[in-house]
Amino acid sequence: MLRKAVNLIATIRALGVTDDVVLNVLGEIDRTLFLPPTLTHKAFENNALPIGQGQTLSQPYTVARMSTILRQHMIEQDIEAPHILEIGTGSGYQTSVLSRLFKHVCSIERIKALQFQARRRLQHLDCHNVSLKHGDGWQGWSSKGPYDGIIVTAAASHLPEALLQQLSPSGCLLIPVGDAQQHLYLYQRDGDTFTHQLIEEVKFVPLVPGDLL
Ligand code: SAH
Repeated sequence: MLRKAVNLIATIRALGVTDDVVLNVLGEIDRTLFLPPTLTHKAFENNALPIGQGQTLSQPYTVARMSTILRQHMIEQDIEAPHILEIGTGSGYQTSVLSRLFKHVCSIERIKALQFQARRRLQHLDCHNVSLKHGDGWQGWSSKGPYDGIIVTAAASHLPEALLQQLSPSGCLLIPVGDAQQHLYLYQRDGDTFTHQLIEEVKFVPLVPGDLL
């Protein structure tokens, strides 16, 4: 584990995320690589941080929590080589964590400049099992589906129907829903049936409708 990550990982563990596989991955990825140079001194604090274009790199606790929920689902469903879709690549930090945990990761970002930077960082980290797309997350990425897990890292005003349709028969969708007040939901598919559960209150930038930048 990176020495500078030790305190952060202890903080995340104290907040209730105890999956060692996920914590080890977070402890080994240097979050400074995903931040503008002026903010790298804050990389190992448990805070969301601005990455430009009005967007943020999620709080490490949230990244750990969401990654753990996805991993737990794959274990429970006996999915050996999970194929994951992320909506909102942003800095690429969550993407890099997912790429270390799962077989293959697709990720969509609507702001071209962010996607460009994320691609460079992920190449630098040798994340070769990642496919990136400049596109609208509300539509998903049907040609690469179906997905065993879909994770949305921006808050949707309502459930994007296209994402549910792109789940594999035992897939799950982890998504923050709401505006001023947001809640993280886990949708689980079992053939033609969907169930969902409320996980906790969260704070994300909005999943913007429509036009790409
Ligand atoms: N997972 C990211 C968090 C980025 S913040 C990280 O680890 O850094 C959420 C991201 O979602 C922003 O980059 C934003 O541009 C993107 N986003 C918002 N609406 C979107 C949409 N409709 N389609 C794709 N990406 C979107």
